[in-house]
Amino acid sequence: MDIPRIFNITERAHRIHNPITPEKLATLGAALRLEPGTRVLDLGSGSGEMLCTWARDHGIVGTGVDMSRLFSAQAAQRAAALGVAGRVTFIHGDAAGYISAEKVDVAACVGATWIGGGVAGTIGLLARSLSAGGIVLVGEPYWRRLPPTEEVARGCLASAIADFLTLPELLASFGHLGYDVVEMVLADQDGWDRYEAAKWLTMRRWLDANPDDELAPEIREKLGTEPVRHATFTREYLGWGVFALMSRHSAGPA
Ligand code: SAH
Repeated sequence: MDIPRIFNITERAHRIHNPITPEKLATLGAALRLEPGTRVLDLGSGSGEMLCTWARDHGIVGTGVDMSRLFSAQAAQRAAALGVAGRVTFIHGDAAGYISAEKVDVAACVGATWIGGGVAGTIGLLARSLSAGGIVLVGEPYWRRLPPTEEVARGCLASAIADFLTLPELLASFGHLGYDVVEMVLADQDGWDRYEAAKWLTMRRWLDANPDDELAPEIREKLGTEPVRHATFTREYLGWGVFALMSRHSAGPA
Protein backbone atom coordinates (compact mmCIF):
# COMPACT_ATOMS: atom_id res chain seq x y z
CA MET A 1 0.00 0.00 0.00
CA ASP A 2 1.39 3.39 -0.96
CA ILE A 3 0.51 6.74 -2.52
CA PRO A 4 1.33 7.30 -6.23
CA ARG A 5 5.09 7.19 -6.66
CA ILE A 6 5.26 10.65 -8.25
CA PHE A 7 4.57 12.28 -4.83
CA ASN A 8 7.24 10.20 -3.13
CA ILE A 9 9.65 11.54 -5.77
CA THR A 10 8.68 15.23 -5.87
CA GLU A 11 8.15 15.64 -2.10
CA ARG A 12 10.89 13.35 -0.76
CA ALA A 13 12.90 16.31 0.57
CA HIS A 14 9.93 18.11 2.16
CA ARG A 15 9.49 18.08 5.91
CA ILE A 16 6.14 19.84 5.54
CA HIS A 17 3.99 18.80 2.58
CA ASN A 18 1.87 21.93 2.56
CA PRO A 19 2.29 25.72 2.14
CA ILE A 20 2.58 26.21 5.90
CA THR A 21 6.12 27.07 7.07
CA PRO A 22 7.95 25.81 10.19
CA GLU A 23 7.37 29.24 11.76
CA LYS A 24 3.62 29.11 11.12
CA LEU A 25 3.42 25.52 12.38
CA ALA A 26 5.03 26.80 15.61
CA THR A 27 2.58 29.73 15.68
CA LEU A 28 -0.30 27.28 15.37
CA GLY A 29 1.02 25.08 18.19
CA ALA A 30 1.32 28.13 20.45
CA ALA A 31 -2.10 29.45 19.39
CA LEU A 32 -3.75 26.18 20.42
CA ARG A 33 -2.26 26.56 23.95
CA LEU A 34 -1.20 22.91 23.97
CA GLU A 35 -0.47 21.47 27.42
CA PRO A 36 2.05 18.71 28.15
CA GLY A 37 0.32 15.36 27.67
CA THR A 38 -2.25 16.69 25.18
CA ARG A 39 -3.22 13.76 22.92
CA VAL A 40 -3.10 14.57 19.20
CA LEU A 41 -4.23 12.38 16.29
CA ASP A 42 -3.04 13.37 12.79
CA LEU A 43 -4.57 11.71 9.72
CA GLY A 44 -2.31 12.11 6.68
CA SER A 45 0.61 13.01 8.93
CA GLY A 46 3.16 13.07 6.08
CA SER A 47 6.73 13.28 7.35
CA GLY A 48 5.49 13.99 10.87
CA GLU A 49 6.76 17.56 11.32
CA MET A 50 3.68 18.83 13.16
CA LEU A 51 3.55 16.03 15.74
CA CYS A 52 7.35 15.87 16.22
CA THR A 53 7.86 19.60 16.75
CA TRP A 54 4.80 19.93 18.99
CA ALA A 55 6.06 16.96 21.04
CA ARG A 56 9.41 18.74 21.39
CA ASP A 57 7.99 22.21 22.06
CA HIS A 58 4.81 21.41 24.04
CA GLY A 59 5.18 17.84 25.29
CA ILE A 60 2.16 16.57 23.36
CA VAL A 61 1.65 12.84 22.80
CA GLY A 62 0.72 11.97 19.24
CA THR A 63 -0.24 9.37 16.69
CA GLY A 64 0.06 9.93 12.95
CA VAL A 65 -1.36 7.77 10.17
CA ASP A 66 -0.07 8.10 6.61
CA MET A 67 -0.26 6.01 3.47
CA SER A 68 3.21 6.93 2.14
CA ARG A 69 5.77 4.36 3.28
CA LEU A 70 8.58 6.85 2.61
CA PHE A 71 6.98 9.75 4.52
CA SER A 72 6.07 7.47 7.46
CA ALA A 73 9.68 6.28 7.67
CA GLN A 74 10.90 9.88 7.50
CA ALA A 75 8.49 10.78 10.32
CA ALA A 76 9.94 8.09 12.57
CA GLN A 77 13.47 9.32 11.76
CA ARG A 78 12.47 12.91 12.55
CA ALA A 79 11.00 11.80 15.90
CA ALA A 80 14.28 10.09 16.78
CA ALA A 81 16.30 13.13 15.66
CA LEU A 82 14.21 15.46 17.86
CA GLY A 83 14.34 13.05 20.81
CA VAL A 84 10.57 12.53 20.90
CA ALA A 85 10.34 8.93 19.65
CA GLY A 86 8.75 7.96 22.98
CA ARG A 87 5.93 10.50 22.58
CA VAL A 88 4.87 10.04 18.96
CA THR A 89 3.90 6.97 16.94
CA PHE A 90 3.60 6.83 13.17
CA ILE A 91 1.42 4.21 11.54
CA HIS A 92 1.85 3.41 7.86
CA GLY A 93 -1.65 2.80 6.53
CA ASP A 94 -4.84 4.11 5.00
CA ALA A 95 -6.40 6.72 7.30
CA ALA A 96 -9.84 6.48 5.63
CA GLY A 97 -12.19 5.40 8.42
CA TYR A 98 -9.43 5.53 11.05
CA ILE A 99 -10.78 6.03 14.58
CA SER A 100 -8.38 6.04 17.54
CA ALA A 101 -8.86 3.45 20.29
CA GLU A 102 -8.47 6.15 22.93
CA LYS A 103 -10.14 9.56 22.57
CA VAL A 104 -7.83 12.47 21.76
CA ASP A 105 -7.82 16.18 22.64
CA VAL A 106 -6.88 17.35 19.14
CA ALA A 107 -7.84 15.47 15.95
CA ALA A 108 -6.18 16.81 12.81
CA CYS A 109 -6.19 16.38 9.07
CA VAL A 110 -3.91 18.97 7.51
CA GLY A 111 -4.06 19.09 3.74
CA ALA A 112 -5.53 15.65 3.12
CA THR A 113 -9.31 16.02 3.46
CA TRP A 114 -9.96 13.58 0.62
CA ILE A 115 -9.29 10.97 3.34
CA GLY A 116 -12.81 11.58 4.66
CA GLY A 117 -14.35 12.38 1.26
CA GLY A 118 -14.07 16.16 1.65
CA VAL A 119 -14.08 18.71 4.47
CA ALA A 120 -17.45 17.76 6.00
CA GLY A 121 -16.75 14.03 5.87
CA THR A 122 -13.29 14.49 7.34
CA ILE A 123 -14.59 16.61 10.22
CA GLY A 124 -17.15 13.87 10.91
CA LEU A 125 -14.41 11.22 10.86
CA LEU A 126 -12.11 13.22 13.16
CA ALA A 127 -14.99 13.92 15.58
CA ARG A 128 -15.32 10.17 16.21
CA SER A 129 -11.84 10.13 17.81
CA LEU A 130 -12.36 13.33 19.80
CA SER A 131 -13.02 13.72 23.52
CA ALA A 132 -15.76 16.15 24.65
CA GLY A 133 -14.59 19.72 24.19
CA GLY A 134 -11.72 18.65 21.93
CA ILE A 135 -10.39 20.53 18.93
CA VAL A 136 -10.67 19.49 15.28
CA LEU A 137 -7.88 20.85 13.06
CA VAL A 138 -8.44 21.03 9.33
CA GLY A 139 -5.91 22.26 6.76
CA GLU A 140 -7.59 23.20 3.51
CA PRO A 141 -7.17 25.40 0.41
CA TYR A 142 -9.54 28.25 -0.37
CA TRP A 143 -9.75 30.77 -3.19
CA ARG A 144 -7.63 33.78 -2.35
CA ARG A 145 -8.95 35.28 -5.60
CA LEU A 146 -11.95 33.66 -7.23
CA PRO A 147 -10.82 32.21 -10.59
CA PRO A 148 -12.51 34.08 -13.44
CA THR A 149 -12.77 30.87 -15.50
CA GLU A 150 -12.74 27.11 -14.98
CA GLU A 151 -9.48 27.04 -16.92
CA VAL A 152 -7.84 29.11 -14.20
CA ALA A 153 -9.16 26.70 -11.54
CA ARG A 154 -7.64 23.80 -13.48
CA GLY A 155 -4.38 25.75 -13.65
CA CYS A 156 -4.43 25.62 -9.84
CA LEU A 157 -4.74 21.81 -10.20
CA ALA A 158 -8.36 21.94 -8.99
CA SER A 159 -10.89 20.01 -11.06
CA ALA A 160 -13.32 22.97 -10.96
CA ILE A 161 -13.98 26.31 -9.25
CA ALA A 162 -16.52 24.41 -7.13
CA ASP A 163 -13.72 22.37 -5.51
CA PHE A 164 -12.94 25.20 -3.08
CA LEU A 165 -14.68 28.11 -1.34
CA THR A 166 -13.51 31.64 -0.62
CA LEU A 167 -12.17 32.20 2.91
CA PRO A 168 -15.41 33.80 4.22
CA GLU A 169 -17.43 30.98 2.66
CA LEU A 170 -15.14 28.31 4.12
CA LEU A 171 -15.38 29.84 7.61
CA ALA A 172 -19.18 30.05 7.28
CA SER A 173 -19.30 26.39 6.15
CA PHE A 174 -17.76 25.28 9.45
CA GLY A 175 -20.58 27.09 11.26
CA HIS A 176 -23.14 25.31 9.10
CA LEU A 177 -21.59 22.01 10.22
CA GLY A 178 -22.16 23.01 13.86
CA TYR A 179 -18.62 24.10 14.71
CA ASP A 180 -17.17 27.29 16.17
CA VAL A 181 -13.99 28.43 14.45
CA VAL A 182 -11.73 29.05 17.47
CA GLU A 183 -8.38 29.73 15.75
CA MET A 184 -6.78 29.86 12.34
CA VAL A 185 -3.32 30.25 10.84
CA LEU A 186 -3.21 31.11 7.14
CA ALA A 187 -0.42 30.40 4.68
CA ASP A 188 0.87 33.14 2.39
CA GLN A 189 2.49 33.28 -1.04
CA ASP A 190 5.98 32.75 0.40
CA GLY A 191 4.66 29.61 2.06
CA TRP A 192 3.33 28.40 -1.29
CA ASP A 193 6.80 28.96 -2.74
CA ARG A 194 8.34 26.85 0.03
CA TYR A 195 5.96 24.01 -0.80
CA GLU A 196 5.99 24.28 -4.61
CA ALA A 197 9.46 25.64 -5.40
CA ALA A 198 11.11 23.07 -3.11
CA LYS A 199 9.83 20.41 -5.50
CA TRP A 200 11.80 21.89 -8.40
CA LEU A 201 15.27 21.33 -7.00
CA THR A 202 14.19 17.89 -5.78
CA MET A 203 12.96 17.04 -9.30
CA ARG A 204 16.13 18.33 -10.94
CA ARG A 205 18.40 16.33 -8.63
CA TRP A 206 16.24 13.23 -9.01
CA LEU A 207 16.38 13.55 -12.81
CA ASP A 208 20.14 13.86 -12.78
CA ALA A 209 20.37 10.71 -10.66
CA ASN A 210 17.63 8.70 -12.43
CA PRO A 211 17.72 9.62 -16.15
CA ASP A 212 16.42 6.22 -17.28
CA ASP A 213 13.59 5.83 -14.77
CA GLU A 214 10.13 5.22 -16.29
CA LEU A 215 8.89 8.44 -14.64
CA ALA A 216 11.81 10.54 -15.94
CA PRO A 217 9.88 11.95 -18.96
CA GLU A 218 6.97 13.00 -16.72
CA ILE A 219 9.27 14.63 -14.16
CA ARG A 220 11.21 16.33 -16.97
CA GLU A 221 7.99 17.79 -18.35
CA LYS A 222 6.87 18.95 -14.88
CA LEU A 223 10.19 20.61 -14.11
CA GLY A 224 9.89 22.52 -17.39
CA THR A 225 6.37 23.79 -16.76
CA GLU A 226 5.77 23.97 -13.01
CA PRO A 227 7.50 27.29 -12.19
CA VAL A 228 5.37 29.22 -14.71
CA ARG A 229 2.20 27.32 -13.78
CA HIS A 230 2.78 28.03 -10.10
CA ALA A 231 3.42 31.75 -10.66
CA THR A 232 0.45 32.12 -13.01
CA PHE A 233 -2.15 30.18 -11.04
CA THR A 234 -1.55 28.66 -7.60
CA ARG A 235 0.51 31.53 -6.23
CA GLU A 236 -2.09 34.12 -7.29
CA TYR A 237 -5.40 32.37 -6.78
CA LEU A 238 -5.05 29.76 -4.06
CA GLY A 239 -4.98 30.41 -0.35
CA TRP A 240 -4.51 27.80 2.33
CA GLY A 241 -5.03 27.67 6.06
CA VAL A 242 -5.38 25.51 9.14
CA PHE A 243 -8.64 26.00 11.00
CA ALA A 244 -9.28 25.00 14.62
CA LEU A 245 -12.88 24.01 15.31
CA MET A 246 -14.90 23.11 18.40
CA SER A 247 -18.34 21.53 18.27
CA ARG A 248 -21.20 23.78 19.42
CA HIS A 249 -22.90 20.68 20.80
CA SER A 250 -20.17 19.44 23.12
CA ALA A 251 -18.77 21.33 26.08
CA GLY A 252 -15.32 20.64 27.41
CA PRO A 253 -14.26 20.00 30.99
CA ALA A 254 -14.72 23.10 33.17
N1 SAH B 1 -0.23 16.72 6.96
C1 SAH B 1 1.07 16.53 6.34
C2 SAH B 1 0.99 15.89 4.97
C3 SAH B 1 0.08 16.56 3.97
S1 SAH B 1 0.26 15.94 2.30
C4 SAH B 1 1.81 17.84 6.25
O1 SAH B 1 1.17 18.88 6.37
O2 SAH B 1 3.02 17.84 6.03
C5 SAH B 1 -0.99 14.72 2.23
C6 SAH B 1 -0.59 13.42 2.91
O3 SAH B 1 -1.68 12.51 2.87
C7 SAH B 1 0.60 12.72 2.28
O4 SAH B 1 1.57 12.50 3.27
C8 SAH B 1 0.01 11.38 1.78
O5 SAH B 1 0.94 10.33 1.88
C9 SAH B 1 -1.15 11.20 2.71
N2 SAH B 1 -2.26 10.37 2.25
C10 SAH B 1 -2.89 10.39 1.05
N3 SAH B 1 -3.92 9.54 1.05
C11 SAH B 1 -3.95 8.97 2.29
C12 SAH B 1 -4.79 7.99 2.92
N4 SAH B 1 -5.81 7.43 2.29
N5 SAH B 1 -4.51 7.64 4.21
C13 SAH B 1 -3.46 8.20 4.87
N6 SAH B 1 -2.65 9.12 4.32
C14 SAH B 1 -2.90 9.49 3.06
